[in-house]
Amino acid sequence: MFEKIVIANRGEIALRVLRACRELGIKTVAVFSEADRDLKHVRLADEAVCIGPAASASSYLNIPAIISAAEVTDAQAIHPGYGFLSENADFSEKVSQSGFVFIGPRPETIRMMGDKIAAKKAMLAAGIPCVPGNGEPLGDNDEINVAMAREIGYPVIIKAAGGGGGRGMRVVHTEAALVNAIELTKGEAGTAFGNSTVYMEKYLEDPRHIEFQVLADSHGNAIHLGERDCSMQRRHQKVVEEAPAPGLTDEQRKTMGERCANACKEIGYLGAGTFEFLYEKGQFFFIEMNTRVQVEHPVTEMITGFDIVKEQLRIAYGLPLSITQEQVRFTGHAIECRLNAEDPKTFMPSPGMIDQFHMPGGPGIRCETHIYNGYKVPPYYDSMIGKLIAHGDDRASAIARMKTALSEMVIDGIKTNIPLQQSIMADAAFEAGGQNIHYLEKKLGIH
Ligand code: ADP
Repeated sequence: MFEKIVIANRGEIALRVLRACRELGIKTVAVFSEADRDLKHVRLADEAVCIGPAASASSYLNIPAIISAAEVTDAQAIHPGYGFLSENADFSEKVSQSGFVFIGPRPETIRMMGDKIAAKKAMLAAGIPCVPGNGEPLGDNDEINVAMAREIGYPVIIKAAGGGGGRGMRVVHTEAALVNAIELTKGEAGTAFGNSTVYMEKYLEDPRHIEFQVLADSHGNAIHLGERDCSMQRRHQKVVEEAPAPGLTDEQRKTMGERCANACKEIGYLGAGTFEFLYEKGQFFFIEMNTRVQVEHPVTEMITGFDIVKEQLRIAYGLPLSITQEQVRFTGHAIECRLNAEDPKTFMPSPGMIDQFHMPGGPGIRCETHIYNGYKVPPYYDSMIGKLIAHGDDRASAIARMKTALSEMVIDGIKTNIPLQQSIMADAAFEAGGQNIHYLEKKLGIH
């Protein structure tokens, strides 16, 4: 196994990676910005290197600084976590070229999945069901574009090939609006992503978000760990995630999971990844693949008893997968509530000093957070300060445990979204399960 790795991230995921390393006997190097000296994992790491000022662009996105940190500490590999440089193909390439192991897929895989058109093409070829629409770049011929939209049927969505973070998309309901919408989306995409290529697909009106977790090694093996339902979203940001997806049959899980694992083999995927789908009327439609560990990975860990982060490290070292598909077992139900430092009503970020923190506990409760009494949440980064995960024999028991845990949890000094999470857990429609991706915004009165 690796002797020492760099953790190129911050917050709860950096701590999660550090814990996995400790279990495997790997020494850790924390890299941190000037605003993050007091991060918990920085204190716990074997070594720590300051890589720049608070602004992410100068620190957590500073490729030369991170690679230098690996060089001066004599580390062997770099774990990118999620966000920041985790899906940056140039970073992964530079890491390898500098003689280190990037803990994630090959640069060409990251590059392909970052281009929505290339990704859709590869997925169609690998037998993954995609949203109706051929996934070809739209040309300037209005007649052809109008005919295409008629064939797909309205509403359609115009999407930027290089889009991300829920930006670079426009829904079109009528033919009258189509040509103008294509022009506008092209213009915006050119400005925002430096690539004005757009394509057209069917707009699904009331889908759920269901995603499959996969793991693939460098020996040609690939498995899936089932699915997660992440339909509780606000502004395309997940708020609550759970596994398994309510109402999904074993047969559907097996069919889709195997297709995803096979697609990994086809494209030579390496490491942990997630196939994201929109799910409507019993059918799955691929939207994107995330080539990294995800925020919501713990719900899968809770129902499988399998450590995804440790497996990422083993795979990157070149070891074969430590389990076969037949050994994967699903037990009970798990729910994750994301904890954000924000006003529960206005969603305005609420950085500042945490005066009091009491972590909940009890059977089936897992708390992934880097906060502690006296920790100051900096204003420079994402407002997520942790995740609370509850596991139970079934969904009802997971919800009951989550309610208790949320009521025990104390975070004083800053505002958090705990009241919002409590209202979701107490919501009758949530309790019933299987709501679509618009449910939470409707509940919040956004629509
Ligand atoms: P990004 O890379 O910007 O996150 P995605 O392709 O993953 O883009 O889409 C983000 C979100 O936009 C999805 O979670 C979904 O809510 C919505 N979306 C994307 N494509 C469609 C579609 N064809 N029909 C309905 N909603 C869509």
